[in-house]
Amino acid sequence: AARRLESLDPAGTVFAEFSALALKHGAVNLGQGFPTLPVPKFITDAATDAVKGDGLLHQYTRSEGHVRLAKALSAYYVDKIGRTLDPMSEVVTATGASEAIYSTIQAFINPNDEVILMQPFYDCYPAAVTLAGGKPVMVSLRPPADQPATTSHDWKFDVEEIRRAVKPGVTKMIVINNPHNPIGKVFTREELESIGKLAVEYDLLVLADEVYETLVYDDSVTPFIKFASLPGMFERTITVGSIGKMLGVTGWKIGWALGPPDIIRAIWMVHQYVPFAVVTPLQEAAAVCIEQAISSTYFQDTQKQYTHLRNKFHAHLKATGLTPTLPHGGYFILADTTRVSHVPLENTSSTKAAPTAAGDRRDYRVCKHLTEHALVTAIPPSAFYDAVAGGPLDVPAKLARFAFCKNEKMLDDAGGKLKAYF
Ligand code: PMP
Ligand code: GLN
Repeated sequence: AARRLESLDPAGTVFAEFSALALKHGAVNLGQGFPTLPVPKFITDAATDAVKGDGLLHQYTRSEGHVRLAKALSAYYVDKIGRTLDPMSEVVTATGASEAIYSTIQAFINPNDEVILMQPFYDCYPAAVTLAGGKPVMVSLRPPADQPATTSHDWKFDVEEIRRAVKPGVTKMIVINNPHNPIGKVFTREELESIGKLAVEYDLLVLADEVYETLVYDDSVTPFIKFASLPGMFERTITVGSIGKMLGVTGWKIGWALGPPDIIRAIWMVHQYVPFAVVTPLQEAAAVCIEQAISSTYFQDTQKQYTHLRNKFHAHLKATGLTPTLPHGGYFILADTTRVSHVPLENTSSTKAAPTAAGDRRDYRVCKHLTEHALVTAIPPSAFYDAVAGGPLDVPAKLARFAFCKNEKMLDDAGGKLKAYF
């Protein structure tokens, strides 16, 4: 294989690994983030209507994005970004947010360019950067030093750490994920503005992965702000979104990038040689759904439904003594696993070198142990850290990430199994 694969883990992604493990042990799978909730009828109807005919919806559509979907996205975002997006030049649709991220990085990162990532990071960012020959440079979001975080808001970054990580002329981009996977943090205006100021100072592009933008639970405490809506930021921001999160249909694999025409054109130049165009009937269906959702209470109803699921699973974790961090957005909850005494904590204290092999790290061993003995599967968050660069692995060592985008029965079942185990 090509040398560029050497930067990737031959075992594959943590999601595939733990889904397989859950299946093997018949465990309740709260690992990989995909909803097991019923899909509303207006969504399944839109999908069946789109494939029912025998016409051109079965053929390639416009490479830059199916026109009806680009228009629906433009209408959806107008008041969120505070600007009318030209559907023909400021939107490109992609095979999921994953491809939008990959094509963006291919389009802008030269070999040896540096990209700043905040760890914990979603795992496709460093992979996309290294495949482009670039170098991911890590800065950290950190929980309080002395006690477990109570809410996701307790996780903070230090803007001076980001400044120190920037090499003028070499650093090309910073990636921010808001709402955040796995923390659930919704960044404040001040936090976003401090990043924006650095971006202007060092002329950085900002890749704003906002796939969980519709899943925000405490709007009055932490309103979600789109990065591109900040004054002066649209010009340097690539906004990424996903129909998988917006409609709870991760298998549709439709995403998009939004931004100024020159940026979108560069992303499309890569995109045209990756999938060329995205699945036509589901882009049509996605457009119909967004048109309908805008004029209904779908987004508000979904927020309520997810708030309920979040609160329910948060209570289950609390009752087991796996101290949870209340997330303000997204569909994951981090929990403190210190009380899984079977896997002692001292093995990965920050004073000793943490094991770089994933399977040896405490959080991997805890998540395997809980799958095998409590029959509940979570994701070890050190998968979202750079072990090789010596990331602060003492932080994820005592955490596990549970997905709560699951039906109530699964959440109650998992809660019951964890209680029985402890
Ligand atoms: N970004 C984040 C933060 C994610 O959690 C995910 C996956 N759920 C993606 C991007 C990829 O989204 P998609 O499934 O649309 O490719
Ligand atoms: N984004 C999902 C998660 O964080 C997983 C997507 C995937 O399996 N690649 O769980």
